Amino acid sequence: MRQRGVALGAAALAGAVLGADVLGRAVGWGALGPGPRESGRVAVTFDDGPSERTPELLAVLARHGVKATFFVTEPACRACPDLLRALLDAGHQIEAHGRWHTHALLLPPWREWAQVRWHPRAQEGGPHLYRPPYGGHSPLTRLLARLTRRQIALWDIEGRDWTGQGAATLAGQTLERTRGGSVILLHDGPAVTPALLDALLSGLGARGLRAVTLNELPMRRIGFRQGLGRLRASYGG
Ligand SMILES: [Zn+2]
Repeated sequence: MRQRGVALGAAALAGAVLGADVLGRAVGWGALGPGPRESGRVAVTFDDGPSERTPELLAVLARHGVKATFFVTEPACRACPDLLRALLDAGHQIEAHGRWHTHALLLPPWREWAQVRWHPRAQEGGPHLYRPPYGGHSPLTRLLARLTRRQIALWDIEGRDWTGQGAATLAGQTLERTRGGSVILLHDGPAVTPALLDALLSGLGARGLRAVTLNELPMRRIGFRQGLGRLRASYGG
């Protein structure tokens, strides 16, 4: 009897993990995703900052005259308040990436409530975006976001700046997949990202695509067909 209970518990957990990854991160139905494809606008976004890399990213963005969107965490903001201020002063869009950099499934509901509610601009009027760490989130995350008036913001293109590949290779791969409306995910932290960003912004300009903030894009809700396309791209290569 006890064994059966353990097996059922394990199956429920596996189901929750699969559901959060497939329906949350990969498909993303109902969350915010890419903007209008015909617009000629794309958005460059950075997760996990601010960090010691932030000044380099700011310099590259300034050189290209581009405004980006930074999804920051509470611990990083507490560690680097001056860098958070520098991002705001430079006119970049600042959004939330969580009070902890923890996957939704590892947080009990009351901690996830605090996770989703935390926002670096909580005192200001909305919209307030929340990008779940690792993109993983469950139906509970959606409910908490609704209750706290946060909108879950995903992406469609990964810059893959955690893979250890060179900047030129990563920029080439990213540009190949980027289209009008794309939301590109990069990170504020890896050593390769400033050079990758530089090559990426040059490449976008050469293709007639203009990088803007997510508010300017703007993002659109991920619909049924688009969700299926995301699923294929996530697991089918
Ligand atoms: Zn992250």
